Amino acid sequence: MSDSCCQGSVDASALQARQRRVLAAVLAINAATFIMMIVAATMSGSSSLLSGALDNLGDALTYALSFAVVGSTIAAKAKVALFKGTLIMGAAVAVAIQIGWRLFHMETPIFEMMGIAAIANLAANAGCLALLHPYRHDDVNMSSVWECSRNDVFEGFAVIAAALFVWLLDSGWPDLVIALALLIMFLRSALRVLLSAWRELAWRGDIQSS
Ligand SMILES: [Zn+2]
Repeated sequence: MSDSCCQGSVDASALQARQRRVLAAVLAINAATFIMMIVAATMSGSSSLLSGALDNLGDALTYALSFAVVGSTIAAKAKVALFKGTLIMGAAVAVAIQIGWRLFHMETPIFEMMGIAAIANLAANAGCLALLHPYRHDDVNMSSVWECSRNDVFEGFAVIAAALFVWLLDSGWPDLVIALALLIMFLRSALRVLLSAWRELAWRGDIQSS
């Protein structure tokens, strides 16, 4: 389940109007959650909120770009995937630097703020899962989106666990451990998508392969 998340692509042209509507709603929820998580991460000093926010960013971009490339060529879609992959890898590097910095400037995050944001994040993820639930057997697109959303619910629990252990142990370490685990999971799936987009383009000769 960890090799999961949602960095793949969605063929929005294959979706029906009602499926597109639910995907647009899930996109809006992820975009709002991303902003909420960034604000809460900054205010509480929590790295696991920041790592968790990466997934919301990736999901929102995936769905937004899948709407944007409806009817485009495969090469154009691969270029968009490459652009998205580069963008979220840049964000992931920023999160990695923040985690590295925290290792040497350890402070205990404000767990109340962390806990509230973590619960709001889980509620948002669970809301998406509920929205997608009736569509999970529709086709390969919707079932993969549903699976991603299910993984996001597990991630939501991980961030809550981080807040809980920060409170129990009165330490910043649980926050950093969960942040690192989420970041590694995220990087694995982002890297896989980036490589497959690159290969697609190289194979088609649209970019020079060295
Ligand atoms: Zn996700």
